[in-house]
Amino acid sequence: MEFSSRARQRHARLAGDRREQYPHSLQFYLEPPTESISLVEFESFAIDRLRLLKVVENLGVSYVRACVLQALAEDDYEARRKDHISHFILRLAYCQSEDLRRWFLQQEMDLFRYRFNELTENLMQKFLEHVNLSFEAIGEDLKNQLANELSTSTPGFTLAKVKEQMFYKVGLADAVDLFRARRVFIKDGFAYVPFKEIDVIVLNNYRTKLSKALALTARSLPSIQSDERLQPLLNHLSHSYVGPDYSVQKNTGKISLEQIDALSVKSFPLCMRQLHRALRESHHLRHGGRMQYGLFLKGIGLTLEQALEFWKKEFIRGKVDADKFDKGYAYSIRHNYGKEGKRTDYTPYSCMKIIMSNPPGQGDYHGCPFRHSDPELLKQKLQSYKIPPSGVAQVLELVKGMHYQLACQKYFELTHDVDDIGFSLNHPNQYFTESQKLLNGGREPKKEFNNSGNFQQKNNSQESINSSSTPTSSKEKADTELEGLEAYFTED
Ligand code: SF4
Repeated sequence: MEFSSRARQRHARLAGDRREQYPHSLQFYLEPPTESISLVEFESFAIDRLRLLKVVENLGVSYVRACVLQALAEDDYEARRKDHISHFILRLAYCQSEDLRRWFLQQEMDLFRYRFNELTENLMQKFLEHVNLSFEAIGEDLKNQLANELSTSTPGFTLAKVKEQMFYKVGLADAVDLFRARRVFIKDGFAYVPFKEIDVIVLNNYRTKLSKALALTARSLPSIQSDERLQPLLNHLSHSYVGPDYSVQKNTGKISLEQIDALSVKSFPLCMRQLHRALRESHHLRHGGRMQYGLFLKGIGLTLEQALEFWKKEFIRGKVDADKFDKGYAYSIRHNYGKEGKRTDYTPYSCMKIIMSNPPGQGDYHGCPFRHSDPELLKQKLQSYKIPPSGVAQVLELVKGMHYQLACQKYFELTHDVDDIGFSLNHPNQYFTESQKLLNGGREPKKEFNNSGNFQQKNNSQESINSSSTPTSSKEKADTELEGLEAYFTED
């Protein structure tokens, strides 16, 4: 995050004044910020945090830990201020529906866990005291007395390990999860929790607080919605996709209609494969499906003329005659290509938009199958696509943890027979591009289709679809994603 020098001075002063407000690098975000900030700062803080949460979602802790968390552990009050304010802005944006709340809660919980585990033992203790979660460590005498019970009731704890580790006496209400999972020794209404499990208790506490706070924030929405400066910004944030824009211009005309069936099996993400199959089988898709799939096809390179031909051919095989198609459906296809109405050149939907908005109803095929399908149906679908049982189990496990994009990444690995997907998935068109690069040895589809319907051989120097924006390894991708995030909690 970059501030002008004047702004920096102002912030330095603020930081000085607020040292007491942020005594720790970690917070439970109990009190909302009360200072005034500019709309520009409001937006940039929010976007940066959203990027951070996306990285947490897609890449996991290993990369995040390396750069961002260290900054938090430092004695940097400006970083803490930004952390505080940005959390509350996204809380406003992400309290608006149950799905959004769930996503935000999950990512914030993961982020919190990473940060907490990164603290030194001393800082952890201080933080626990600060949030009134300080637990009583049991003395050596009592520990020796209970050593056998502690060892047998605490998985992974030999007698020697019991002697080494600190145990805490925690009220049962605070240790319900550990108790349910049979991971702690219980006596007289107290759980004896080893130090390494304290994070479970802290996280439970944080989860309860944050989920109540989100529900409360949602109740105050009507007053926020009446603020015409904030509402568009918050709406945009909650549907915001913070990766590259899969604009279509440079791909246009590079796919032929004849290729689509084969591509849908090899290179389409599950959401688009499902839509294509439904279209071929029922010769129709409802509005949500036409929008999601139509814009995806546009993104992979279908021209307007090709799109009109593709949809018409399919629809007239069903209940729609050519005249009805021309009068009704053709308009919305031209609309998607910016040739009708407001003449907006619509961009393909990102995963976040598909996952978070407009859930499919009965008879719909749009949405994200990892998010919107019944797990049993998803399992059957994956099996029918010849995903091995261990792979199906891995995907379902990720779905259970609400990691839909990670589940999709796993699906990519399984269907492309690679161990490491090498990128972090944010967009169905990105999935397609990466798949094509992999299958074609780094090049896009070899054939080009011209508008008259003929294949045309492309030479090998043809520019690849979005290739310049896509790093080749997961490490590089991670570095790219994290570019700028080091600055998330630092001033410059
Ligand atoms: Fe489609 Fe994205 Fe869901 Fe994958 S994660 S199925 S690309 S919406």
